[in-house]
Amino acid sequence: MLIVKQISKNFGSFQALDTISFEMNKGEIVGLLGKNGAGKTTLMRILTSFISASSGTVSIDGDDIAKHSLIIRQKIGYLPEKPPLYGDMTVQYYLRFAAEIKGVPKNKRQSQLAKVLQECDLESVKLKTIATLSKGYKQRVGIAQAIIHEPKLLILDEPTSGLDPIQIQQVLALIKNQREQRTVLLSTHSLTEIEQVAQRVLMIKSGKIVLDDTLDELLKNKDSGQSQPLTLEQVFFNYHPQHTLEKSELQVMDE
Ligand code: ATP
Repeated sequence: MLIVKQISKNFGSFQALDTISFEMNKGEIVGLLGKNGAGKTTLMRILTSFISASSGTVSIDGDDIAKHSLIIRQKIGYLPEKPPLYGDMTVQYYLRFAAEIKGVPKNKRQSQLAKVLQECDLESVKLKTIATLSKGYKQRVGIAQAIIHEPKLLILDEPTSGLDPIQIQQVLALIKNQREQRTVLLSTHSLTEIEQVAQRVLMIKSGKIVLDDTLDELLKNKDSGQSQPLTLEQVFFNYHPQHTLEKSELQVMDE
């Protein structure tokens, strides 16, 4: 479904991504982990053809994104960190507009609108202007615009950021339900969220993939010789040992 080969991205002399390669199969939900600045958003922006890679190739469902960016955009749904919402539009008007710009044929727009309103539980707010919605509803509108054209691949950049615990569960349930219909790549800083929805984890550190494994394998901890299974948090800190609280940081906290 998605094949990423040797992607690198330079911003001037700074290398944000360094020869990233991985594949994703149809129907997988993959969690993308990494601390701030690791390169997650840059990778997602390349996969969605918002920016181009400095080198390497990406193919989605058999099409090379550099050669077929228009076709590719129809195959991808993208929820950026800051969703592209227009506050003065009603939910319904905005989603109709999203369907139109994403190339949903005129005779299918109404049924697609009804489908995403139902799927994202937005029926009760469809006539409200977006600016008046809570953050959780806004995020669901963001997901609705990302799936209204039935993309095969859904890319979600920190979809639960800033939501309260109930809103988080609603968004996670919505993401889980996508599994039947499409492949999903999502980034988040919450390891428990990854454990709830993903089957596989990709970890980026300083622009490189340092881990690509299924959650089952990771948490089984078969090689460590420990009796307790690992948590995803332990796995994360194993790759970022300098970020466990060091003596100097503890001293600062004490002061
Ligand atoms: P976060 O979790 O904070 O969103 P991230 O993993 O998504 O972080 P990126 O936003 O991809 O990280 O950034 C990776 C690195 O590339 C950072 O050091 C960032 O400052 C740098 N970077 C990103 N975009 C640009 C740009 N347009 N010009 C220069 N540097 C950039």
